[in-house]
Amino acid sequence: NVQLAQRVKALTPSTTLAITAKAKELKEQGHDVIGLGAGEPDFNTPQHIIDAAFASMNEGHTKYTPSAGLPTLKKEIIKKFKADQGIDFDVSQIIVASGAKHALYTLFQAILDEGDEVIIPIPYWVSYPEQVKLADGVPVYVEGKEENEYKITPEQLAEAITDRTKAVIFNSPSNPTGMLYTEDELKELGEICLKHNILIVSDEIYEKLIYGDHEHISIAQISPELKEQTIIINGVSKSHSMTGWRIGYAAGNKDIIKAMTNLASHSTSNPTTTAQYGAIAAYAGPQDMLTEMREAFEQRLNIIYDKLIAIPGFTCLKPQGAFYLFPNVKQAAEITGYANVDEFSQALLAEAMVAVIPGSGFGAPNNIRLSYATSLELLEKAVDRIHRFVEKKM
Ligand code: PLP
Repeated sequence: NVQLAQRVKALTPSTTLAITAKAKELKEQGHDVIGLGAGEPDFNTPQHIIDAAFASMNEGHTKYTPSAGLPTLKKEIIKKFKADQGIDFDVSQIIVASGAKHALYTLFQAILDEGDEVIIPIPYWVSYPEQVKLADGVPVYVEGKEENEYKITPEQLAEAITDRTKAVIFNSPSNPTGMLYTEDELKELGEICLKHNILIVSDEIYEKLIYGDHEHISIAQISPELKEQTIIINGVSKSHSMTGWRIGYAAGNKDIIKAMTNLASHSTSNPTTTAQYGAIAAYAGPQDMLTEMREAFEQRLNIIYDKLIAIPGFTCLKPQGAFYLFPNVKQAAEITGYANVDEFSQALLAEAMVAVIPGSGFGAPNNIRLSYATSLELLEKAVDRIHRFVEKKM
């Protein structure tokens, strides 16, 4: 008869879990299920990173590190920011954490008091609202409309601001939509944040996965004022196919970083030492693997996108980054006789043996999310199955 805390009772369980569990169950029963739910690249971590991690252990680097991470790793991260964004950070402005997710978690714990509001654009990555609530904050949702590429406008941002607004989260490229904010858009949004002194949380974890002529711009590189106003979140999980290593980081205002470091010193102590050595190699070593991965994702995207939008009742903006497709399938659910997209997704799994993530978990109940972090062969097979399923039911 355990009495659990309110804070965990109020947690919304991950929507992806229910469908992933069902997919697993079907697989175990011998069904040929294709899972398009993955949130991680399907490539191995490059060998030189694994070798460097091994070598570090053999050299005796198996003890605690400073709570904010190894100075050598912070220096590599600083070099990365200089090379990619042209911005300078001091070591006191960087904290390495156990994944970008935990960097975000620690950030909200460090900045939010009870009732402080955080503006979260819809569609959102599932963990933002829960992390804000766990820090006693209040998520304030603003809907990025499909006609505006699922991005929020400066007007919408301005309208959502109250005297309790502490921060706003931008995730560009976005999980789940794959959309990118342009420099002009970020400039306008940033001006509003500066005017109202709102902290900008810029989650740039998909920075390296950009397609076509699109370009990733960090809001922090637009002006020194915006750099001061922004905490950048990034990491090696998606860029270097290192999701299991759990290395991410936050960069920005040194007082915030210091508070986060104090919190980390009482929670994780430090991110895993071996993984930090791996991350040093990831940044210091060759980067050709990044190009190979990016090109493979783009090739899949181009092939699969055309097939996807040919499915009756599917409309989809062409993703500009990350590795997800986020079609609006409201019409497809209607013409196949399902009450809503959640039920349509369940039927896709039960009858077409394709696991997709319903958009409701991202605040977008008309959409589904398909990850193309799987082989082209499986992707083509999966999209064919979905197509046949819809045609059969129409
Ligand atoms: N931010 C977004 C938008 C993500 O999609 C993810 C991972 O799915 C993360 C952060 C967390 O990344 P990490 O593996 O570094 O914790």
